[in-house]
Amino acid sequence: ESAAPTNFIRAIIDADLRQNKNDGCVVTRFPPEPNGYLHIGHAKSICLNFGLARDYAGAPGGSRCHLRFDDTNPTKEEQEYIDSIKETVRWLGFDWGAHEYYASDYFEQLYRWAIRLIEAGKAYVDDLSAEQIRAYRGTLTEPGRNSPCRDRSVEENLALFQAMKNGEFADGSRVLRAKIDMASPNLNLRDPVMYRILHAEHHRTGNRWCIYPMYDFTHGQSDSLEGITHSICTLEFEAHRPLYDWFIDQLGIHHPRQIEFARLNINYTVMSKRKLLELVNGEYVQGWDDPRMPTLAGLRRRGFTPAAIRNFCERIGVSKKDSCVDMGFLEYCVREDLDRTTPRAMAVLDPLRVVIDNYPEGQVDEFEAPNHPNLPEMGTRKVPFSRVLYIEREDFMEDPPKKFFRLAPGREVRLKYAYLIRCEEVVRDPVSNEIIELRCTYDPASRGGSAPDGRKVKGTLHWVSAAHAVKTEVRLYDRLFNVPAPDGDKEVDFKSHLNPDSLRVLGECLVEPSLAEAQPENRYQFERLGYFCADRFDFTAGKPVFNRTVTLRDSWAK
Ligand code: ATP
Ligand code: MG
Ligand code: MG
Repeated sequence: ESAAPTNFIRAIIDADLRQNKNDGCVVTRFPPEPNGYLHIGHAKSICLNFGLARDYAGAPGGSRCHLRFDDTNPTKEEQEYIDSIKETVRWLGFDWGAHEYYASDYFEQLYRWAIRLIEAGKAYVDDLSAEQIRAYRGTLTEPGRNSPCRDRSVEENLALFQAMKNGEFADGSRVLRAKIDMASPNLNLRDPVMYRILHAEHHRTGNRWCIYPMYDFTHGQSDSLEGITHSICTLEFEAHRPLYDWFIDQLGIHHPRQIEFARLNINYTVMSKRKLLELVNGEYVQGWDDPRMPTLAGLRRRGFTPAAIRNFCERIGVSKKDSCVDMGFLEYCVREDLDRTTPRAMAVLDPLRVVIDNYPEGQVDEFEAPNHPNLPEMGTRKVPFSRVLYIEREDFMEDPPKKFFRLAPGREVRLKYAYLIRCEEVVRDPVSNEIIELRCTYDPASRGGSAPDGRKVKGTLHWVSAAHAVKTEVRLYDRLFNVPAPDGDKEVDFKSHLNPDSLRVLGECLVEPSLAEAQPENRYQFERLGYFCADRFDFTAGKPVFNRTVTLRDSWAK
């Protein structure tokens, strides 16, 4: 991996360090809400925050990155999501050490801070319904109106807030609001809600609380409590920053600096946990880790490597301007990594039987094939050759155009690592008329793939030996959506753009015998076909399953 390129966030941190702000330390955090699995957009934030902690290890006061679960929304959050988030951050190659935090651990402190704001006349209990609050809020062009409850006395507010906490009121009947400015041009400052009533069991605090703090009242204070110095979030939160600052200033606590950057968008997919959950619940995909999903668990299962994802995040960079990255670029990054890390192997996805008539029955040749064309340190493997072989059905054409350099009647091709063969006869099924077999001859003098007479043979095919090949299932994936911006139009359900052919399962594929020793998640280049990964969950020695991660060349822009 290249040295970290500089960006505007590093420039801010460098300036802060020069002024010895925060006692010379750099503390960042990655703060997921455990309401779904992480997606490739989160990877950008993970690489950024953990990457800064890594790169500023030499700061005078040291550096670290926290993993904080932003778990203030009990109805949507689950332990399963927490577990998958931790597993995924580790898989990506980052380590939060002892710095694992939960916003729910701050509920008591946040409650005391809310009381402090009430006592200071900066917060009040409002009886308006959610709908009324929205109506009173006004619009960008119209100032809001004060709630009739805005001028409640401190004593009454304290008593009501206590009663809210004690469970005396129904969900939605009251909220606690900050008393800021109903005429502010920033709608977030028009007396934002701090607490809502929600009689729901929390995955960590159980039924201890029936009031829950809102994001804006939780996030900045959580950052503050943990001594975060640079709180990096996506651009949507730019307009929340004055509120972030307001709460912290009112409370007079350590003041982290919020910095916004543009979120990652990628075409041909969606990147919102809500929409991904919709795909899971509606069974449009086989789960959060379906290899077609943009989730990190899905990409992992598809065969993406952590290094490829980290490289991708590094190269797209960090900016203040929203943009959409081409899916082809993510694929380019994984292709580049897999090219230099995967052993080669031969597999036939759509087998066509080939019999070498002049090859002795029962004889087996073994060819020593390099595992990588230009990395000898990756070693070699033995590939058996015998009288009955399989080639790819599409590598044969009965009546080919001139430029078809594969097999055809009377033509000669090279079987990779093995011999030159010539097609002598085409055998058809008498009933269906389908081609079921090719009768061929081989040139015994062409062992290794070249003829002593120096005759030119252009085509080289992959193949497997029928008696030795291992039957496997192969899953081929295509883009999940068939338009570049599936959620670009709010009037149209993004699910109407799902690609019906995003998954193709081939049940009769054959792989060379060395792959019988594969383990789940082992990755290979199947020669001429692409990069494949043994399915993390479904692959077994008795029933191998390989997922195609990506094709060899960019077929994306076709
Ligand atoms: P979603 O809209 O998908 O639910 P979120 O922002 O609500 O995403 P969080 O769990 O709150 O999800 O996100 C954790 C962190 O990851 C936040 O700091 C958020 O800014 C960042 N993040 C989320 N999506 C992206 C993205 N597409 N690009 C960059 N960072 C992201
Ligand atoms: Mg969020
Ligand atoms: Mg969200």
